[in-house]
Amino acid sequence: MIKKAPIKEVPPKQKRSSEEKAANSKTSVGTRNKLVKSALAHKIMSLLIKKYPEAECELSYKSPFQLLIATILSAQTTDASVNKATGPLFKEYPDAKTLASADIKHLRELVKPTGYYNAKAANIQACAQQLVDQFDGQVPKTQEELVTLRGVGRKTANVVLGVIYGVRGWAVDTHVQRLSKRLGFTKEKDPVKIEKDLEKLFPHEDWSKLSITLIFHGRRTCFAKKPACHLCPVDKLCPSAYKIK
Ligand code: SF4
Repeated sequence: MIKKAPIKEVPPKQKRSSEEKAANSKTSVGTRNKLVKSALAHKIMSLLIKKYPEAECELSYKSPFQLLIATILSAQTTDASVNKATGPLFKEYPDAKTLASADIKHLRELVKPTGYYNAKAANIQACAQQLVDQFDGQVPKTQEELVTLRGVGRKTANVVLGVIYGVRGWAVDTHVQRLSKRLGFTKEKDPVKIEKDLEKLFPHEDWSKLSITLIFHGRRTCFAKKPACHLCPVDKLCPSAYKIK
């Protein structure tokens, strides 16, 4: 005779309280984490804004055209080097028409303090020529048009749009890329993906202000090598504090 195995008694499922159910339906773990991350990010940025109330574009210019050219020249160098070069440059070639017809050898000499001067001289002259040919010598007002210009990427376009035309945007330069990662705002490496993460994290009206604030912090405290965490107002909140030598 075959002996039947005893049937295990399955304990009844514990009923969840109605409060628990409500809490779980309102905010999932993912949503709660996002809220915590967002609150922390806002706290960090409000402290940094307090530290740098004067944060604004440090390039010297007298017109949208001059800011555009100065921003193209600012790649891989400091604003101080750019300002040193653009003083004499804009004295001789203050607008798109004069710069487009400049002697290229002379241009190279003038932009030498900014580094990569062969490529930069060629870029700013080609950009000036495009402005003359396609935009009546004026700087266009949309990102789509700006990025068609030689030497102009999203970062340069967003700087010009934000500073000149008041269009909010993230200028994801080397400082914004580095600090966004250190502060835990993004895990991305690609500047466009970083820009998207920052756009999701902060309100639209603050994008330009926060962008220049991060740039200021990167230049003055959160250096690429040996950041001065002991002088940083967000060292208690920053996930990278004191970890980078
Ligand atoms: S604590 Fe250090 S790593 Fe973090 S933002 Fe400040 S300076 Fe940069």
